[in-house]
Amino acid sequence: MKLGADEIKLPTSINICEVGPRDGLQNEKTLLSIEHKVELIEKSVQAGAKIVEIGSFVHPKAVPQMADTDAVARKIRRVDNVEYRALILNLKGLERAEDAGVTKAKLTASASRAHSLANINRTPEEVVRGFEECANYAATHNMELSGAISTAFGCPFEGRVAAEQVLSVVSCFREIGVKELSLSDTTGMANPLQVYELCTKVQKQFPDVKWVLHFHNTRGMGLANVMAGMMAGVKYYDACFAGLGGCPFAPGATGNIATEDLIHMCHEMGIATGYDLDQVISIGRTIRKMIGHDTASFVLDAGKCSDIVKPQK
Ligand code: ZN
Repeated sequence: MKLGADEIKLPTSINICEVGPRDGLQNEKTLLSIEHKVELIEKSVQAGAKIVEIGSFVHPKAVPQMADTDAVARKIRRVDNVEYRALILNLKGLERAEDAGVTKAKLTASASRAHSLANINRTPEEVVRGFEECANYAATHNMELSGAISTAFGCPFEGRVAAEQVLSVVSCFREIGVKELSLSDTTGMANPLQVYELCTKVQKQFPDVKWVLHFHNTRGMGLANVMAGMMAGVKYYDACFAGLGGCPFAPGATGNIATEDLIHMCHEMGIATGYDLDQVISIGRTIRKMIGHDTASFVLDAGKCSDIVKPQK
């Protein structure tokens, strides 16, 4: 792969979905109040988020941090043209989402057979086919679905996940009518070359799908992976305020790439995100106070590049 400047094609803008209220907060020991969650979501939208994952409709015993997603969804002041989505696992979750006024829901299946069998004793393909009733319900209730393919790049049980396995899960999602799919590096095992190759492959094979990338920064490859995704032409990325995150069902998984780090990198390169970075940084500081500990965010620690440039005398 040649990397001369004139060979790199990057988008002029990307879309960043704020997944902090779900992927971030679900792993925190501190349970935030409904008011604090609402504040974080509303501030993220004010800062420029056009897509926010506000929580999940799953069993409260499984993920107590998300038990109040219904109340959060009802309380947030909605802004036009902003997508508020939530994670669900089944039809019951989808009905709860609808009741709370959430019209976009995300369903997750693992790309890794071993991961899927270990967690829920079903193959990835069986899991996605099981979502058909959700797809039918959404189609008749004016709701939209997106799919997330977790462990799409690597998995603690089987190591590198083959592209063919990912494509097989994509096919199943397409069969039930889901047209928006995210490839999630749940365990932070993806590397940039792998991201470039897989993104190129899936876009070629499924050009009608809206592709989203979701990276955890477990081994410091998160932003490099975004760069590889952008070079492959992908324009939608998940990120998490203050770099919170992880996955309670994936051993060793740590935080998502931080929203402020991703925005900062894009703005430094002249790629528009629609966010006001200073506002996002201020949200990150608020979160650190709310949860009472430091988080994995470079920009929150070091400041922006432009902060340290001294005026010339
Ligand atoms: Zn995640």
